[in-house]
Amino acid sequence: MSNSEKQFYCINCGEKVANLYKRYSETVLKLSVCGRCKQISDKYVEYDPVVIVIDLILLRIMAYRHVLLNSEFKDFWKLSLLLTLLEAYSNWTFSDRFLNSSETISNKTAGDLREFDINLHDFKFYLIYLNITASTKVWNKDYLVVAN
Ligand SMILES: [Zn+2]
Repeated sequence: MSNSEKQFYCINCGEKVANLYKRYSETVLKLSVCGRCKQISDKYVEYDPVVIVIDLILLRIMAYRHVLLNSEFKDFWKLSLLLTLLEAYSNWTFSDRFLNSSETISNKTAGDLREFDINLHDFKFYLIYLNITASTKVWNKDYLVVAN
């Protein structure tokens, strides 16, 4: 899909814009201004990808709007898989830390489940992953666009 066919959005207010920039020469670009909010439609067009990733980590919604609405990024299923696995790993390590701290007060005469089956620990990770996947709400592009 070429730039002339693709629909772009202002990352500040969500208004549809015809294009994000106008190229005057090989090195000169002029960013377009949104007709609704009178701000630059998408300032991330000229930003380095590292800066965009930092803003994504900082949970700036304008950076998410840029990536999801105005960029050529298409591997959403890979991103969602990666984020879900990271969240599952985080929850898994936290639950292990909690179990290890309570181990000192547990009954030592009871059998240890980790000795019973070495894969039980891995199975717990998969259960946490399935729980996170099932409880994750799926959003669509309309969520990112501000209603008029
Ligand atoms: Zn705007």
